[in-house]
Amino acid sequence: MASDVALYVGEALAKYGFPEGHPFSIDRQGAFLGEAKKQGLERKVCVRAPRGATREELLRFHHDEHVDLVETRSREGSGYLDYGDTPAFPGVFEAGSSIVGTAVEGLDCIMQGHIRMTFQPVGGMHHSQRHCAAGFCVFNDIGVVIDTLRQKYGIQRIGYVDMDVHHGDGVFYSYESDPELISVDIHEDGNYLYPGTGHAHEAGKDQAKGTKLNIPMQPGAGDREFAAAWERAEDHLRRHKPEFLIMQAGADGLAGDPLADLRYTPAVHAQATRSLRRLAEDTAQGRMMVFGGGGYDLNNIAAAWTAVLRELVAG
Ligand SMILES: [Zn+2]
Repeated sequence: MASDVALYVGEALAKYGFPEGHPFSIDRQGAFLGEAKKQGLERKVCVRAPRGATREELLRFHHDEHVDLVETRSREGSGYLDYGDTPAFPGVFEAGSSIVGTAVEGLDCIMQGHIRMTFQPVGGMHHSQRHCAAGFCVFNDIGVVIDTLRQKYGIQRIGYVDMDVHHGDGVFYSYESDPELISVDIHEDGNYLYPGTGHAHEAGKDQAKGTKLNIPMQPGAGDREFAAAWERAEDHLRRHKPEFLIMQAGADGLAGDPLADLRYTPAVHAQATRSLRRLAEDTAQGRMMVFGGGGYDLNNIAAAWTAVLRELVAG
């Protein structure tokens, strides 16, 4: 039987990385892929190639001015796309666009019924907002997927789960007043870590009140604390019955990440993926997209993301 999981990897995605010792380096995809091959996982999935996004696809979520700015800076090959976290480099437009185009390709494949789940390790650019880049994120592939689901496929009620150690502010604030975006974000407390947002009282605005769940974790929190948070996360999602699931599986919450202070093991990635896969089968016809997100220790990336993929392909 053909696999119902597609893995999106390729050179265009590997090129998404910043030069000169930046923590978001270009070898992240390779670190994951080496370990995935060692475990024989690539034989259990359909391996698919990336593609660039069209301008129309970028504009489903982003403002014109932002797309123009990235295009210009990419040609110039220098300067910053934000206030100092996200440098421009020659080709940054194409690299950012590949993440979005590939995500849309994966979504289209799911909606056409060819596969049910995707994993795109280089993706999950959750800090980028409609009008700007931020926190190493040039274009927000998750936002484009959400807006494509609405505009092209008429799917409104979408579950978004973000376990990256940083709060997914670009996604959260874009849909803060949207009652159909059901979100859970488990991250290190904003009092200690970038971007400083995602407090427990931020539960959605106006008619969306109660549709968002932010769970800040204290520095040093590990698997036991995650398991408690996950119980609330699963409850919240099941109550709202999402028709489609998106997961951002950042590996930067694992012990030893150079940018953060949590102490998870890859068991949390396995637990979250297993639980979401079941939920997707119950409420979303099995439809689920997973994006790699952050993670700045290459061994941690390899361990966390292969744990995700093992659960996706588990019979
Ligand atoms: Zn992160």
